[in-house]
Amino acid sequence: MKLEKIILDSPVSNITKQPSSVYNNTSPLHIGVVVCGDWKSSTIALEYLILYLNQKQSLFEYQLVSSDELLFEMKKIYGVGSSEDKLLNSILAGSEISQGKLEMKHILNNISTTLIQVLNRKYDAFDSSQCPSYIIYISTSKHTDPSYFQDDGSNGFSAQNPCRGAIIMTGHHDRKLAPPTVVEFVFKFIFRISLKFKFPEFKRNKRHYGQKSCLFDCCHDMSRVRYMILHNYICQPCRSSLSASTCNEILKSLDASNIYGNEIARHPAKISSDLGFNLSLVKGLYKSNYELAMENLSNSFLNRLGSLAAITFGVSLLYMFELDFWFVNED
Ligand SMILES: [Zn+2]
Repeated sequence: MKLEKIILDSPVSNITKQPSSVYNNTSPLHIGVVVCGDWKSSTIALEYLILYLNQKQSLFEYQLVSSDELLFEMKKIYGVGSSEDKLLNSILAGSEISQGKLEMKHILNNISTTLIQVLNRKYDAFDSSQCPSYIIYISTSKHTDPSYFQDDGSNGFSAQNPCRGAIIMTGHHDRKLAPPTVVEFVFKFIFRISLKFKFPEFKRNKRHYGQKSCLFDCCHDMSRVRYMILHNYICQPCRSSLSASTCNEILKSLDASNIYGNEIARHPAKISSDLGFNLSLVKGLYKSNYELAMENLSNSFLNRLGSLAAITFGVSLLYMFELDFWFVNED
């Protein structure tokens, strides 16, 4: 794959890019993944799990890309202090991002195209057809617009001139979205974005507005995004646009038993319980805050730590601050 010399000043990047149709649909689409931000101890686990997705399907091949190693060369292309430099620094540091949606998409495309260009040089001595043609950044950043992550319009890009970069900002993952865990959230969005890379003609005018718990839900209520993550579903109209075999492969790899085995069941009764309603108890609807809090504790914190100290800590918190609910965030 050859990319022409990058021109950064144009509002819509005019780099000549290959339409997705040039990719043989039987070979995987190569996607680079940059895990960055302030993940504390979860980076290695997250990287491990992202590469695990390669075993579970054959539509996409994910490669971890370390932008630290390539940063110096990238900065030489777009210049220190440029919009690209500022945005990439924020993404890498996991700090808050405030660029408007349209602006951000074009800057992200420039950054990604530059990264691909630099990666291509590294690929000189290797099989360049395996160099990533798209980049996904997974950052702990948060956007000042809380609904940013929903943005997936074409914004001037097309199948012939696709946007080469996408970002998953996990800074929005808070108690409103839990359960599911942040890992499930990231997995779903990786596939959602990857499928849009592979099928650029599957635009918004082919998708639905309402929530069906489909992988392509457009959701304006943050707390409802969880349904898309908790269910493993692609609706019939979306399936017919993307092909049944593609959807089956994605749903199979997103099956919770593939991620968690039987340790953390994604059974409807268990999920309902995690969401505050225990189907096995008649009085479930009328539970006190204390009972709800204890259930949340046992489902998240205690299962992981299994410690008596954790119970004492949790119960003291409950009495000290009269908390109605709390959520143990995983990064
Ligand atoms: Zn759908």
